[in-house]
Amino acid sequence: MDTPPTIFPLWKLPMLPIAGRAERFPVHRIFCIGRNYAEHVREMGNDPAGKPIFFTKPSSSLRLNGAQIPYPLATANFHHEVELVVALDKGGTNIPIEQAQDNIYGYAVGVDLTRRDLQEVAKDKGQPWDASKAFDDSAPCSELYEVAQIGHPSRGAIWLSVNGEMRQQGDLNQLIWNVPEIISALSQFFHLQAGDLIFTGTPSGVGPLEVGDQVEATVEGISVLRFEIVEVADA
Ligand code: MN
Repeated sequence: MDTPPTIFPLWKLPMLPIAGRAERFPVHRIFCIGRNYAEHVREMGNDPAGKPIFFTKPSSSLRLNGAQIPYPLATANFHHEVELVVALDKGGTNIPIEQAQDNIYGYAVGVDLTRRDLQEVAKDKGQPWDASKAFDDSAPCSELYEVAQIGHPSRGAIWLSVNGEMRQQGDLNQLIWNVPEIISALSQFFHLQAGDLIFTGTPSGVGPLEVGDQVEATVEGISVLRFEIVEVADA
């Protein structure tokens, strides 16, 4: 397809590497699920009997494995949330749970970085979560692993450490909505498409990050995502 002339250079399309392949996975949208592990729902002061919720991040917030992540502006409580990430290469609307897995290309490990202080203000005032969730560099994500290689993980350890100290530990079998249920539920609100990523929620143990911290996040059988928090550089 020919691109018409533009008044400034096009930005780079966000893409994820794929383990063992030269091709990349172009990222369209990033959907996130909140309140999807009961222990984490409780630690945030919410009722685990409530339904999980949806929010989004721009695809421009994606960062690759090994990134240096600037400590964000406008927060004093910058939190980590390790999550299983699902990558779609097909989509649709009103996808039945039984057909949901047919839309999955692969899986990755991601961290849903959060300005917790801004999120608390937004919750108190009934305001949107964009400033607390959808900011620059807020979606570090590992390379993708194809379903053909690793299947569909439904159990296995998910954990995150900071400077070698364990912070979050859970198991994929603790997901309140499992992956097919998430895809089916999202497709009742959005026309899911190839290139969409879904961050599926975090186990308990979320906590603050500081400049200099080395973060390691893992989902057993998928990958290890590593990144470092660095000082923000003024533009
Ligand atoms: Mn999250």
